[in-house]
Amino acid sequence: MTVLHDMTVAALAAELRAKKVSATEVAEHFLARSQADTSGAFLSFNPGATLAQAKIADGLLAAGKAGPLAGVPMAHKDIFVTTDFPTTAGSKMLEGYRSPFDATVVRKLGVQAGGAGMVNVGKLNCDEFAMGSANENSAYKSVANPWDTSRVPGGSSGGSSAAVAARLVPAATGTDTGGSIRQPASFCGITGIKPTYGRASRYGMIAYASSLDQAGPMARTAEDCALILSAMCGPDLDRDSTSLDVPEENFALNLNASLDGLRIGIPKEFFGEGLASGVRAAVDAALKELEKLGAHLVPISLPRTELSIPVYYIIAPAEASSNLSRFDGVKFGHRTKDYTDLVSMYKRSRAEGFGEEVKRRIMTGAYVLSHGYYDAYYLQAQKIRRMISDDFQQAFKVCDVIAGPVAPTVAWKLGEKTNDPVANYLADIFTLPASLAGLPGMSVPAGFGEGGMPVGLQLIGNYFKEAQLLNAAHRLQQATDFHLRQPGGAK
Ligand code: GLN
Repeated sequence: MTVLHDMTVAALAAELRAKKVSATEVAEHFLARSQADTSGAFLSFNPGATLAQAKIADGLLAAGKAGPLAGVPMAHKDIFVTTDFPTTAGSKMLEGYRSPFDATVVRKLGVQAGGAGMVNVGKLNCDEFAMGSANENSAYKSVANPWDTSRVPGGSSGGSSAAVAARLVPAATGTDTGGSIRQPASFCGITGIKPTYGRASRYGMIAYASSLDQAGPMARTAEDCALILSAMCGPDLDRDSTSLDVPEENFALNLNASLDGLRIGIPKEFFGEGLASGVRAAVDAALKELEKLGAHLVPISLPRTELSIPVYYIIAPAEASSNLSRFDGVKFGHRTKDYTDLVSMYKRSRAEGFGEEVKRRIMTGAYVLSHGYYDAYYLQAQKIRRMISDDFQQAFKVCDVIAGPVAPTVAWKLGEKTNDPVANYLADIFTLPASLAGLPGMSVPAGFGEGGMPVGLQLIGNYFKEAQLLNAAHRLQQATDFHLRQPGGAK
């Protein structure tokens, strides 16, 4: 039998179902690997809870009542609330917080009745409240990229991408507000998909920017992402007012469909100045491969691509400033020990609990929403957001899928951009447009660029076209082996 940690989610699920290995054995193996990790990918473990979940999965498997992914281990970004593990959102504000309930996504993937049966190995590091592109805004620790430990794993789901790339777990959840699934997947050479906004419930996902936040899977293959995404999505109308009333879908059904005649739009704005030559070469080669599989490349334009940065960095902080107001040391979050009255308690609790980037965004958000600036910034940004969505709809008249790079460069060095927030923001240029439009987007390993670091190909689909993206990604993975390569750091 292949070593357990080299197996995909699909392969592990089959082994478990065939009773070649038990969920408990699998959980013990991945738990030991993850606990021995020194990259900083994990924030917490609870071996007792992990093994208890594995025992439940074994019971379900024995009784023939198991969900489709029963006993397969995974780990959750520490932005999803969990009863079995602490949840911090990478912030001191929530240090030691225990949720009284599980996020809908956690419940749907887990061993509870009706869940897919996956076993949670632990909680994964991330940028504080998911604000960041390098995982360096985590209040606890940074994460090393397993391909080169002197580099960042991307962010904000950097613990998720590093853990999957190093084969500590076969899959993880991430969240994507402006690229936080796609960009770390690209930086770590794994596959990740953000579904259409509203497909996956946001209930129990600690809010950053509610009109943008979406959950999705990160794994090594498109097939694994399809299996997990199928289990994650579905209406949750009573708990999330933006949850879409569209039925669950099996995204793994048509992975092998032919790409003959698929029209892939190539936005010229994604290939301009600032795109690293190594990234461009890898993306071009992947597009050639898709052409060989029958797809046609169609030149398109997304003319407001550059505007997506100021638009996003107005709207996301505006929503964050509102969402984070609940962390006042009374209703939620850290409470200072040192205060004289109510106002000083609020002030000190928030000053102590939040990190620098979070404070920067709260201030930006409060500013753009304030009387006198609202029309000039927030309202303008909302209007351009709509135009960006319209640009995509124009493009989808002539193509089925849009492709380009995920990020302008490969993973940068730890510390390189730590003190330069704007440099971090600019690196989000290719992921923000799909986020603002609420479209599904994914990153597929497409080769290697500068420094031998992984490069992801971004695929963007129209609303509800996740299956089409996963099909294109799967076919590409049948023709290439980038998703099978292992970082030197993984043993
Ligand atoms: N890098 C972007 C930000 O800092 C996106 C983060 C995300 O998608 N959560 O806001």
